[in-house]
Amino acid sequence: MSDATIEPTTRPAQPVAPPADWTYAPAPESTDIVRLEDRYGLFIGGDFVEPKSGKHFPTINPATEDTLAEVAEAGAEDVDVAVAAARDAYDSTWRDMPGSERAKYLFRIARQLAERSREFAVLESMNGGKPIKESRDVDLPLAAAHFFYYAGWADKLEYAFPHVVPKPIGVAGQVIPWNFPLLMAAWKLAPALAAGNTVVLKPAETTPLTALLLGQVIQEADLPPGVVNIVTGAGATGAALTGHDGIDKVAFTGSTEVGKTIQRQLAGSGTRLTLELGGKAANIVFEDAPIDQAVEGVVNGIFFNQGHVCCAGSRLLVEEPVFEELLDKLKERLQTLRVGDPLDKNTDVGAINSKQQLTKIRELVDSGVDEGAEIYQPDCVLPDRGFWFAPTLFTNVSQSHRIAREEIFGPVLSILTFRTPEEAVEKANNTPYGLSAGIWTEKGSRILWMAEKLRAGVVWANTFNRFDPTSPFGGYKESGFGREGGLHGLEPYLQLEGRP
Ligand code: NDP
Repeated sequence: MSDATIEPTTRPAQPVAPPADWTYAPAPESTDIVRLEDRYGLFIGGDFVEPKSGKHFPTINPATEDTLAEVAEAGAEDVDVAVAAARDAYDSTWRDMPGSERAKYLFRIARQLAERSREFAVLESMNGGKPIKESRDVDLPLAAAHFFYYAGWADKLEYAFPHVVPKPIGVAGQVIPWNFPLLMAAWKLAPALAAGNTVVLKPAETTPLTALLLGQVIQEADLPPGVVNIVTGAGATGAALTGHDGIDKVAFTGSTEVGKTIQRQLAGSGTRLTLELGGKAANIVFEDAPIDQAVEGVVNGIFFNQGHVCCAGSRLLVEEPVFEELLDKLKERLQTLRVGDPLDKNTDVGAINSKQQLTKIRELVDSGVDEGAEIYQPDCVLPDRGFWFAPTLFTNVSQSHRIAREEIFGPVLSILTFRTPEEAVEKANNTPYGLSAGIWTEKGSRILWMAEKLRAGVVWANTFNRFDPTSPFGGYKESGFGREGGLHGLEPYLQLEGRP
């Protein structure tokens, strides 16, 4: 290159002024992909039908309080029809269909979920209030993965359970909550269908829309009519289903209170039951933990899905020497959480699922203040309409406080300290629940020692809220019994004849 080609700089370098405002510009996901109907029927016998009850109820967007659609409310007579459709399908096709054929239907559903994942994710965020980045990156991939995973087992049940003859149970009644509406439907449906059972599913009252869209997918996948039936409604619909004498197996995810009611309802009936209930998980940070990584894990543990997570790390136990450092970093991190429009791709914390749940969170938070705990909330402006709660930390918490004992199911973290690993175990286990726990330390031996002593169904080490269809999930004590996920998740849907 000759000197002649080098242009002399004629303009002096300009200093770059920093932006006046470092906040993110809005990045809303379009809702055009979702085609809402004004009114939804019940999905029974392969068709959407009008409810015999003649009743419908509105389902709303909790971020705006706008009505999205009217949804059928199934009465006892509708549940009868759905159970009869499931029984017919079980007797006439599904029970005796070769596993390799059943698998094809499950693969079809899985592929449809993957192909239509954006539509499902947007609808999930509209109806439930969770941030789109969570519906898109967690709920949808995992829901599809559950169908893929269990499709793989449908023709291999004899290998999964060697030396016994695995047979389906019959008709399953499944009742699911509002925190992961589609994912919970996938957790329930996929193993039941792979094992050869037929199903009547009841989604939560506040979040029926993705289950109904799944009904459309099931229809398009040509699943034999009646293999899956979806009855929408409130608690009374759930009770009509779980107490129905045409049901062989009940699977429930929700509150411990309703779980106990169902257990009483089914006592002595011979109906098989699995319960996945509440939690009050301890997330335990030791002095030697990588603190910045632990802060991220703590934030993910409690603010993921607004804390509407049964396995949320809602009690933080910190080893005393790092308490101040961790608290400072947590407060700093909370300032950066973006609370607001669930459909904005930058949102970290979305809307609270319902007015009722918001009232419950407020009441428990007030009790924390009244009982003497110290509250911290970052500066954040909450939208005027819809249901919102700012991310909240409590320090000066004692084990007897309600906020340390009761499941808040919201973005609220109670922080306690400990001095020895034994004290951490004692405090972590000091709860009627036993669903999950987290350990943050660099010592592998300590992880193993702790994991053995913690009475929790899932123990995460140096991570939190990790899910995989191959991994069993479930609780001890008031968190319920039975496992979902993995081979363990197939067992409740099978009779294992000849098992010693
Ligand atoms: P519920 O336990 O009432 O709801 C879970 C599901 O059960 C819903 O589909 C619900 O219907 C249905 N249901 C309600 N009553 C009955 C009944 N008697 N028989 C059969 N099914 C029934 O939870 P909530 O929505 O009332 O939430 C209350 C609290 O429960 C939360 O604050 C949280 O602490 C906890 N919870 C825990 C969950 C978990 O995953 N462990 C999930 C959800 C809540 P409907 O929605 O129509 O009422």
